[in-house]
Amino acid sequence: ARFVQQVSRPRGRPTGAEFAFTEEPVPVPRPGTALVENVLLSVDPYMRENMDADWELSTPLEGRSIGRVTDSRTGALAEGDLVFHRQGWRTHAVVDPKDVRVLPQTPGVPPETYLGILGGTGLTAHVALSRIARLVPGETVYVSAAAGGVGSAAGQLARLMGAGRVVGSAGSPAKVRLLTEELGFDAAFDHRAGRLGEQLAKAAPDGIDVYVDNVGGEHLEAAIGAMREFGRIAWCGAIAQYDATEPPPAPRNLFDLVEKSVRLEGFLVRNHRDAQEELEQLLLPVLASGAVTDRHTVTEGFDGIVDAFLGMLAGGNTGKATVRVATS
Ligand code: NDP
Repeated sequence: ARFVQQVSRPRGRPTGAEFAFTEEPVPVPRPGTALVENVLLSVDPYMRENMDADWELSTPLEGRSIGRVTDSRTGALAEGDLVFHRQGWRTHAVVDPKDVRVLPQTPGVPPETYLGILGGTGLTAHVALSRIARLVPGETVYVSAAAGGVGSAAGQLARLMGAGRVVGSAGSPAKVRLLTEELGFDAAFDHRAGRLGEQLAKAAPDGIDVYVDNVGGEHLEAAIGAMREFGRIAWCGAIAQYDATEPPPAPRNLFDLVEKSVRLEGFLVRNHRDAQEELEQLLLPVLASGAVTDRHTVTEGFDGIVDAFLGMLAGGNTGKATVRVATS
């Protein structure tokens, strides 16, 4: 069995030297628990934040993952069950049944969907639109980091919820094409290719009502500038600043929120797990029909997990970044 530990704190952008791979005998489950062989691991931006302080050095890391029960010492889990649990960054895990979810087997919905659009990633997008921004049909929505996990879910969910116009930004021409040609965005632009404010004004000439912010900083400033009166900003994340060693200078136009009566609200998806059932009811039919897609960028092999994580932070992924550790 193998696992990854963080061995040092990064200063700015991590290089990979902060992590170490460690080997141990395959753990034996205690009575009441089960051994899981991990199949898919999730790498997420919040892990970059955890690297600064929350993750204890030289202990196995955590993360969302999906694995197969291979040795069960509890009646609650059967060998062969595919389970969702939170002990990622390792090949094997001993789980307590109360901490796992046995994944349903639904035709047309592969298990990795539960790390993507049906997992915390999709739930974040759903909560942002439905509970935080309270999207009203016909409104214009702008999503940043729109080709990523949360972003690609948010664009498609906004469409499903009746948005009038859906606009996205992402970090390459290929991602921009993906947004408009495959993910149903009405307009998209490359945040590396020009001034954000000007590009956003062109993509949403009448302004925006809802902004799903995955990036913060200058993206948030541009969105505040484009906001219509009574707009709402659902602040999910600020990936532009996770590597920063100083607080970001932007947004410099916060007072516009007052002048435009805009509501900006941050949230953590972990406080909204009760919305999971609603998300599944909304998405299961459209996933099965192919009307909504759950994109992943899958890195093959446990050895690739650090590169998958760093690659995701640098924009190497489209859709949810995951790592395949074993064949299911
Ligand atoms: P993504 O799949 O979106 O991957 C991160 C993406 O961020 C990259 O692909 C890259 O895309 C983009 N990015 C990186 N650096 C920058 C930058 N400086 N400026 C603009 N874009 C950048 O990750 P997730 O979908 O998992 O997460 C998206 C956001 O949502 C993150 O901020 C995350 O912290 C947040 N989040 C919040 C949750 C909550 O509970 N509030 C829960 C889950 C996620 P590109 O090539 O387009 O630049």
